[in-house]
Amino acid sequence: MVLLDGKKTSSDLKDEIAIAVKQLKADGKKTPHLAAILVGTDGASMTYVNSKVKACELVGFNSTLIDLPESTSEEQLLHEIELLNNDTDIDGFIVQLPLPKHIDEQKVLMAVNPDKDVDGFHPVNVGKMALDLPTFLPATPYGILELLERYKVETSGKNVVVIGRSHIVGRPMSILLSQKRSAGNATVTLVHSLTKDIKAFTLNADIIVAALGIPEFLTGDMVKDGVTIIDVGITRVDDATRPRGYRIAGDVHFESVSKKAGYITPVPGGVGPMTIAMLLKNTLLACERR
Ligand code: NAP
Repeated sequence: MVLLDGKKTSSDLKDEIAIAVKQLKADGKKTPHLAAILVGTDGASMTYVNSKVKACELVGFNSTLIDLPESTSEEQLLHEIELLNNDTDIDGFIVQLPLPKHIDEQKVLMAVNPDKDVDGFHPVNVGKMALDLPTFLPATPYGILELLERYKVETSGKNVVVIGRSHIVGRPMSILLSQKRSAGNATVTLVHSLTKDIKAFTLNADIIVAALGIPEFLTGDMVKDGVTIIDVGITRVDDATRPRGYRIAGDVHFESVSKKAGYITPVPGGVGPMTIAMLLKNTLLACERR
């Protein structure tokens, strides 16, 4: 069994990005600048945004964190987005999700200038992605493709099962893996909460991407020998033995599945770090494009 080490791979990627940034600076070109908007004080969101800002510093990007209170109105948030759209120093920005319930997420995502949408969530970028045109790929599926490529996991002609059809992970993952591309050309089945007998699909899969948010959903009896497992899940599970009172669990029961897997991502240290690295890669791309 080979561990698909997202921590190491993302660190290699960040080193490569840092070299590219040094070169930009040496050539007298612009330093990439990523901004992040955070609304409210959700613990997990604050952790994610802080990791993104820290990663920017590590590779030599400029970063701006716009920290807004929970009470921020939709109108105020749209105004902040407009300021970032018009700020010529900002190459790309993200609005950390989820947003407070009184704000319409779709309206907010639509307000982001597609050329600065380094999360790849704007319908224009989703459309380009679906048509295999150059765009910003959503960071999590993009990170998974990168991991599969760097570990030379064959996807062409393979049976892939993606569990979960969210707009940010499952759906784009299923599209990308089915496209004519490296880390593509797979036969993809997308399953979800209304799928009958998921096990019948997973038992026939060469590669499984689990992105449903149910801790340890995928167990050893649901997979075949030699399967490649990509575990996207991140759920805080109460654990009194841990200093923080919780542990991070993936969607895969690692102990039983890893005994049968050819390749598997750990949680933490698999897909999570890759997501941040790909956001940086998209920001570098946004800067170079301008
Ligand atoms: P989401 O928007 O909640 O979507 C979950 C998907 O799973 C839905 O399509 C849902 O089906 C499906 N599902 C729910 N229960 C199911 C079941 N019993 N059997 C089969 N499918 C089921 O979740 P998400 O945003 O994609 O996130 C999924 C997980 O990945 C979460 O743990 C999240 O924290 C994690 N995540 C990690 C990263 C990272 O960087 N590692 C990034 C993003 C998300 P329906 O559509 O039918 O409801």
